[in-house]
Amino acid sequence: MKNQPAKPSQAPGTSPPAAVVEWVPLFEAQKRIYPKTTTGTYTSTRWLFVWLTQLLYYGLPWLEWSGRQAVLFDLGARRFYTFGFVLYPQDFIYLTGLLVASALLLFFITAIAGRLWCGYTCPQTVYSSIFMYIERKVEGDRNKRIRLDNAPTDVSKISRKALKHALWLLFSIWTGITFVGYFYEIRKLVPDLFTNHVAGWSLFWVVFYSFATYGNAGFLREQVCKYMCPYARFQSAMFDKDTLIVSYDAVRGEPRGGRSKGADAKSNALGSCIDCSVCMQVCPTGIDIRNGLQYECIGCGVCVDACNSVMDKMEYPRGLIRYTTENALKGKFNQKELIARILRPRVLIYASILGSLLVVLGVSLSLRTPFKVDVVRDRAVISRIAQGGLIENVFRLQLMNATEQTKKISISASGPPALRIASATQETLLPTESKWMVVSVHAEPGSAPAGAHKFMFQIDDTEGAFKLSESAVFIFPR
Ligand code: SF4
Ligand code: SF4
Repeated sequence: MKNQPAKPSQAPGTSPPAAVVEWVPLFEAQKRIYPKTTTGTYTSTRWLFVWLTQLLYYGLPWLEWSGRQAVLFDLGARRFYTFGFVLYPQDFIYLTGLLVASALLLFFITAIAGRLWCGYTCPQTVYSSIFMYIERKVEGDRNKRIRLDNAPTDVSKISRKALKHALWLLFSIWTGITFVGYFYEIRKLVPDLFTNHVAGWSLFWVVFYSFATYGNAGFLREQVCKYMCPYARFQSAMFDKDTLIVSYDAVRGEPRGGRSKGADAKSNALGSCIDCSVCMQVCPTGIDIRNGLQYECIGCGVCVDACNSVMDKMEYPRGLIRYTTENALKGKFNQKELIARILRPRVLIYASILGSLLVVLGVSLSLRTPFKVDVVRDRAVISRIAQGGLIENVFRLQLMNATEQTKKISISASGPPALRIASATQETLLPTESKWMVVSVHAEPGSAPAGAHKFMFQIDDTEGAFKLSESAVFIFPR
């Protein structure tokens, strides 16, 4: 129930009036945001990151390496190609390490300068910026868009809206195709899509990712940052009073108020804020930074650029809104000390954990043997008597060549019981090939007591590039 109106006084001898109940919806209707364009250092930096991230995203699947796609997650063949590295599911640990390193990098950056990731490189922010750019080109800047949305529906309005949505959809479909192109060779995917030869799942993901882009960047935009993104909720745990965040300098800005250009703020008993609301109009999440740090703020710095241009026009010093820390705003540190405080214990701890993890990852990747073997016992034949009375155990070896060269290998078996391989002992694997090999191992009866005996398979590159050992168990029957 909302604030109820004051109860009317009850006349003597009459029954009391019925209680007034007003229903309030649990979900607040969202006001549409029409961000205004601005220019400045932070706005240019944001666009630089849009270009860099998108050139990488759209360009990478088209790069070739050794006659194949340079970056490809081939789920069917269970291989992940990244330039010269060919990773198998057994190398999943490296991917895990990379994800942990990315999370630590995010903590590290957040501790230094807040939500830089959100403001400059998060796909939600980047795609929203691109979609807003298209919107501006078709419908005009803030005021024109507001006027268009409030105007009655006519041919001009419908054609502008239709053009905007068509461009959004084209861009989204290309984004969806590119996403699937990381899993399905993009040079095959594009013609396969147009000749209707693409598999159902690939088509599903193209459509799904396209609509996710269209919906998130075209309609949901800041709602994703405000209500769906978990990072917005827990990032404050990584902030402290020395984290650089976009802040309004209330000491300098208040009391705010309008005035003519060149008017002396002090003689009018006013602060530097002219209450023009430009900082709110440019904000992609529609907040007023003058109300202090809010979880909706993605740290994009666009309001800094906008306010600086207002300060320039008023001939006031820049920086009424700026990247600064809570401690600096309170006057505890000057600009020099503020920079020195960046290397504080929290940041150094994140940096040392991140650095150690990257070193471990780098060393283990450089020492990684580019050939893998998995031994699987043939479950159909545990142990049997073969021709000549010998005891036979059968194994299946999965051989995985993670190099760009053809590899010839030889296989032998060694253990406390004398063992001999009775099947083929040589195999050839083409570059990045994986194949299964059935290996039959023989032992003399009575050469070891009944039961399980551990032994080793030895896999040697015939050119001497590597030697691998894999343990297995030979069973002597009772
Ligand atoms: S842009 Fe600057 S001057 Fe204008 S309202 Fe915002 S803080 Fe005040
Ligand atoms: S308040 Fe400023 S920094 Fe925060 S989201 Fe809005 S424009 Fe970006």
